[in-house]
Amino acid sequence: MALDHRSVFRASVLLTCVIICSNVLCPVGAYLYNNRYAGDQVFRITPSNDEEVRAVKKILGHIKVDLWQPNSISLIGHNATVDVHVKRNDTQGLHARLKQKRIDYRVFISNLQKEIEKQTGYRSSRKRRSESQYDYEVYHSLEEIQSWMFEINRTHPDLVTMFSIGKSYEGRPLYVLQLGKRSRPQKKSVWIDCGVHAREWIGPAFCQWFVKETLGSYQYDSVMRRLLNQLNFYIMPVFNVDGYHFSWTTDRFWRKTRSKNHKFHCRGVDANRNWKVKWCDEGASSHPCDDTYCGPYPESEPEVKAVANFLRKHKKRVKAYISIHAYAQMLLYPYSYKYATIPNFDCVESAAHNAVTALYSAYGVRYRYGPASTTLYVSSGSSIDWAYRNGIPYAFAFELRDTGYFGFLLPESLINPTCTETLRAVKAIASGLLKKCETNRDRFPYI
Ligand SMILES: [Zn+2]
Repeated sequence: MALDHRSVFRASVLLTCVIICSNVLCPVGAYLYNNRYAGDQVFRITPSNDEEVRAVKKILGHIKVDLWQPNSISLIGHNATVDVHVKRNDTQGLHARLKQKRIDYRVFISNLQKEIEKQTGYRSSRKRRSESQYDYEVYHSLEEIQSWMFEINRTHPDLVTMFSIGKSYEGRPLYVLQLGKRSRPQKKSVWIDCGVHAREWIGPAFCQWFVKETLGSYQYDSVMRRLLNQLNFYIMPVFNVDGYHFSWTTDRFWRKTRSKNHKFHCRGVDANRNWKVKWCDEGASSHPCDDTYCGPYPESEPEVKAVANFLRKHKKRVKAYISIHAYAQMLLYPYSYKYATIPNFDCVESAAHNAVTALYSAYGVRYRYGPASTTLYVSSGSSIDWAYRNGIPYAFAFELRDTGYFGFLLPESLINPTCTETLRAVKAIASGLLKKCETNRDRFPYI
C-alpha cells in the first residue's frame, strides 16, 4: 500500500514532534511520548479472599498489563491492593469482569496520558544552567543529571570526588559522587543508590536533593558537618542509566535495564532481582519478558556487576547500604528472600525505628518498616540481602511516597516534601553509625 504525499508529510511532522517531545522541550499542544497513554487507566483492585485472588490473577493473566503494585502477578495476595496500568482497549473488559466477579476496585487514574502531561507540563520553563540555578524540584533527564554531577564536583573540590565505576549495557558511564571531608582516608562509609528501577523518578530526585542539602548545610548544620567529617557518602544518583533514559524518552513506565536477550524480543533485566543471593528463586521470574526477570545469571547486568565489584572492594569500610525505590512508604531491611530474623536485628530494628520517626517528624507521613519478606513480600536476588551477606551490617531499601494515589507519577510539587522527610530518615541512619550498637558477633557472618 502506497502512502500519498499528505500522509507522508503528516507522518514526518508527527515524527518531528515525537523527537522534540522526547528531548525535554515539549511545545504546548504536542503530545509527550507520542500520545501512547491516551485513554489508559490505572486500577486499584482489592481482592478480599483466596477465591478473589485467583480470579484477579486469571483476569490479569489474560490481558497485557503493566503491574505497578505488586510487580508480578504471582505476588498478588489477599489483603493487599493491586495497582495496575491497563491499555485503553482493555479497560472496558476489565471493568466488566471485575463487576461480574464482584471484586472491589477503583479507578485511580482515569486518563494516564493527561496525568503524565500534568506532571511534566512545565519542563520547558525549568532552570538548569548552573548549579545555583539548578531546579531540584523538577525531574531531570539523565544528561542534565550528569552535567549537574560534573558541576557539583567542580564547585566543591574540598568535599566532593566524582568517579565512574563502569559502563552500562549501552555504554553510558556509571557515575558516583563521594561526599566527605578528606582528612581521614579510612572513614566509615555509607552507600546510597537511586534509580535502580527506571520509572521510579523520585529516586534520582532524592539522591540529588541529598547532595544539595548535605553540601549546602555543611557550614551551619553541626549534625551534617559531623557526618561529612566522620563519614564518607557514596551517592549513585542513577543506577540504571539506560532504563532511566528510556523511561524519559520512550516508555515512561519502563522498569528494567536495557540489555538484549537474543532468544526473545524482550529487553532488560530487573536490576533488583539480579544479585547473587538466592538468585531467581521466589518473587523473581525466569521469563525475559516479565518485569521481574532475574537475568540469564547473577550479575549479568553490567550496572549490577559494577556496583557489586565496588562494594566488594570497599566492604570493610561500607557500614550502611541504602537503596532508594518507590512507591509504598516503607523502610525495609533483610531478609528479603526468607522469613527469618537477622543476627543484628536489635541494632537494625532500632535504626529503622529512629529513621521512620525522624521522617514522620517532618510532615506526619507514616512509613511501615520491618524485614522486607514480611513487610512487602519474599523476593530473591535483592540488593539488600546481597549487601548484608557481604558484611554490610545496615542494609536498607526505602520505598518512597506515595501509597498509590499518583504511584509512579508523583507530581513534581511533592519532590520537596518527599525528599525533605526522607533526608531526615537517612540522616538518622547515618548518625546511628557514629554510635556503638552491641550485637552478637559470634553469630556473624550474617547469612
Ligand atoms: Zn524499585
